[in-house]
Amino acid sequence: MADLLGAAPSRVLAVYAHPDDADVACGGTLARWSRAGSEVHLVVCTDGGRGTRDATSDVAALARQRAGELDEAAATIGLAGHCILGFDDGELEDTESLRAELVGWVRRVKPDVICGHDPTAVFFGEHYFNHRDHRIAGWALLDALCPAAGLPHYFPDRGPAHQAQTAYLSGTLEPDVWVDVTDTIDVKVAAVQCHRSQFASGDVWAGDVVRLRAEEEGRRAGVPYAEGYRRLLLS
Ligand SMILES: [Zn+2]
Repeated sequence: MADLLGAAPSRVLAVYAHPDDADVACGGTLARWSRAGSEVHLVVCTDGGRGTRDATSDVAALARQRAGELDEAAATIGLAGHCILGFDDGELEDTESLRAELVGWVRRVKPDVICGHDPTAVFFGEHYFNHRDHRIAGWALLDALCPAAGLPHYFPDRGPAHQAQTAYLSGTLEPDVWVDVTDTIDVKVAAVQCHRSQFASGDVWAGDVVRLRAEEEGRRAGVPYAEGYRRLLLS
């Protein structure tokens, strides 16, 4: 029997590499939790300025456009807060400065639940392997979470130690828990469609793909629509 998450956490921090990642990965979950009263914050590591096939596109202009799209999507989901750290798209590195930023956010938001990329997921079938920034952001978040954010002598200038209890890693090849997003699948589709720069030929198909993926996970979870995660119990 699939493990379906019940009660919403009180405080959530989601950390993703690019402006559209959280909506694609866990938008239904974040919307469900926001509706249920959770305080949900999102940190986006890179500016997304290279996320286009258009060689004439200006990187800084695209980054600005994507920040605006993120604002819209965040309002659609009902996030309590969101920010872009502004690292260069495609050049994210698992550095002390990235980990320090993430530790600072964990200690400010004091989440009981964290959402982020599963960095161990590399190959998804024959046609896609996981973006380098996703893998880097995933590892940096895990290292920031444990032990760094929870122990006071790591990054002592970034606030008092805080240990998040649970991490849910999306984009995983080994999901072991699911969130029923049947009531928020429309919100997720609307949030994904805010990222217009990512859909060159109109965005009609994007909603179909989002629903199809959530249906697949729903079949595994025994509900119409779901999002699946690898769960880590950290405390
Ligand atoms: Zn991405």
